[in-house]
Amino acid sequence: MSTGTLTIDLDAIVANWRALAAMTRAETAAVVKADAYGTGAGRVARALAHAGCRRFFVAVAEEGAALRETVGPDVEIGVFSGHMRGDTDMIADLGLTPMINSLDQLTRHFESLPGHPFGIQLDTGMNRLGMEWDEWAAVAEIALSQRPVLVMSHLACSDEPDHPMNPYQLDLFHQMTDGIGVPRSLAATGGILLGPDYHFDLVRPGIGLHGAAPYRGRPSVGLALPVVQCRDLAPGEVAGYGNGWQAERPSRIATVSAGYADGIFRALAGHLVLWHGDTPCPAVGRISMDLVTVDITDLGEDPEALTLIGPQQDVDEIAVGAGTLGYEILTALGARYARRYAST
Ligand SMILES: *Cc1c(COP(=O)(O)O)cnc(C)c1O
Repeated sequence: MSTGTLTIDLDAIVANWRALAAMTRAETAAVVKADAYGTGAGRVARALAHAGCRRFFVAVAEEGAALRETVGPDVEIGVFSGHMRGDTDMIADLGLTPMINSLDQLTRHFESLPGHPFGIQLDTGMNRLGMEWDEWAAVAEIALSQRPVLVMSHLACSDEPDHPMNPYQLDLFHQMTDGIGVPRSLAATGGILLGPDYHFDLVRPGIGLHGAAPYRGRPSVGLALPVVQCRDLAPGEVAGYGNGWQAERPSRIATVSAGYADGIFRALAGHLVLWHGDTPCPAVGRISMDLVTVDITDLGEDPEALTLIGPQQDVDEIAVGAGTLGYEILTALGARYARRYAST
């Protein structure tokens, strides 16, 4: 018995990609780093390529190499971490397109793979990846003479539409790139929602493909956890490590097969609810590595499984209880779940 079944709705992912693409005149790529946010980069990219997506992005070259094996030679795979030391053979053999982040990377790329496609990443204030103003000013002419496929930057606060950082970064990106004659990209999911001023020639949604905040589309995943065992507790009895919960009434407890090793963070204790149809069943006590205890007293029956992610509750709602984002809930979904891909 596995720790549960993660159902990945490829139709929903394609529908979200199309809905985002319909918001812009720019080309719409797809970001499938971190195994497509935990949903399976190969399957997701194949479905999107079939729907017409021609460009994918990953975080590191290893992800790009694995993706190339499943999507074949016809799509572009951009690598956000650029051309790192040791990546040259992978970039060359698997036809990856590094987004060059620094003069160091630019030198490495031109010396080791002259003529091989590349993009440029600029830093417009996030201070994470990309060339800053001075560095870009120094290398722009030579970099542009080698015809990069894309010049991009990334917004730090795009999930807050009124944040002054957004127009600040937009203005800086214009100053750094106006007139270069190369396709440009600034927007991830949040940037798409900021409107066409932010779209340039290509947009790069990741989380939006999963229908999670900041874009509320069709949820890409569902998660059902099998019940291993049910038992009655008398008032005063306790459940879980550290006697983390005590029954105040005659209670029935279901133990489900999944825990913090499967992305159900310990920090969710006290905030986590599972569902049987429309009936909420609160998780009680501490969350173990492989198990969660759930109060099913009000259910009146012993269920075979309980739903963690489904119509009643999406990854964003779960995230609130752990003080995090749907991004982290999705990407933390562990390798132990049975994955079932649904599509018509
Ligand atoms: C992760 C990432 C994206 C996708 O961001 P979402 O918010 O998931 O849409 C786009 N661009 C860069 C540089 C990223 O790191």
